[in-house]
Amino acid sequence: MGHHHGHVHQENQQEFKIAFFLNLGFAILEFAGGLWTNSLAITSDALHDLGDSLALGLAWYLEGYSQRENDGRYSYGYRRFSLLGALFSALILVGGAFLVLSQAIPRLLHPEPSNAPGMALFAVGGILANGIAALRVSRGDGLNARMATWHLLEDVLGWAAVLVISVIMLFKELPILDPLLSILITLYVFYNVLGNLRQTMALFLQAVPEDVNLPQLEADLLALADIIGLHHTHIWSLDGEHHVFSTHLVLRADATKATTLAVKCQAKELIQKLDFEHITLEIDYADESCSLAA
Ligand SMILES: [Zn+2]
Ligand SMILES: [Zn+2]
Ligand SMILES: [Zn+2]
Repeated sequence: MGHHHGHVHQENQQEFKIAFFLNLGFAILEFAGGLWTNSLAITSDALHDLGDSLALGLAWYLEGYSQRENDGRYSYGYRRFSLLGALFSALILVGGAFLVLSQAIPRLLHPEPSNAPGMALFAVGGILANGIAALRVSRGDGLNARMATWHLLEDVLGWAAVLVISVIMLFKELPILDPLLSILITLYVFYNVLGNLRQTMALFLQAVPEDVNLPQLEADLLALADIIGLHHTHIWSLDGEHHVFSTHLVLRADATKATTLAVKCQAKELIQKLDFEHITLEIDYADESCSLAA
């Protein structure tokens, strides 16, 4: 049960660890800054960064944990623990979002003055920190680096918005801008959390993974020589990347052992092109009555 990107784990883990501590430190600083400047917009950004930290921390922790080999207790291994982690961090963020909204919405009616120069200072710091990180990350290649770069640019955008409203508030007394921006950022955090939660729940509920087309795969199997039917095809995913497959393949009643072996071999080859880590094939002969046949 080898794993195809084993060699990069150590390196990844180190990167996740550094990114986690940087983000967490920044989030704590922002929460303090939000209190100091009495700005909920900054508190919302802190919540967003806390979410990033949780994701990175989980990635760091689970990169090691979910690689553990299967054992007598968890015969599928430990990959599904990453789902549990995703669920917990989503719940923490939902709780945080409600907390911020419960502060921000009343302030729409009764705006409180924020420390605009302090906010501007934090915003510049946020833009610099995320901007430099984005530049660094964008030099890497691969999907992960691209996603991380986009994410960091999003963060820069959030801080740019804080900078804009704090500059406006330096010159005009418009304290309502702060809760308005706070609600916007929090809704954005909320929207992303719901998306992650939806994916996590689909995995828990053993949905067919998004990158697998079940009818197409069944058709491809049926198109192989000597397979005259199939039933009870089941597909689910351990963690969204490593899938599990099982099916019953029906062969002619007089199929020889050589034919049977060839069919199994071809079918496995076809299935393994996708990300299946566990494959179970049952062979039925046409004249046997499989109690599970459709
Ligand atoms: Zn972020
Ligand atoms: Zn079944
Ligand atoms: Zn069967």
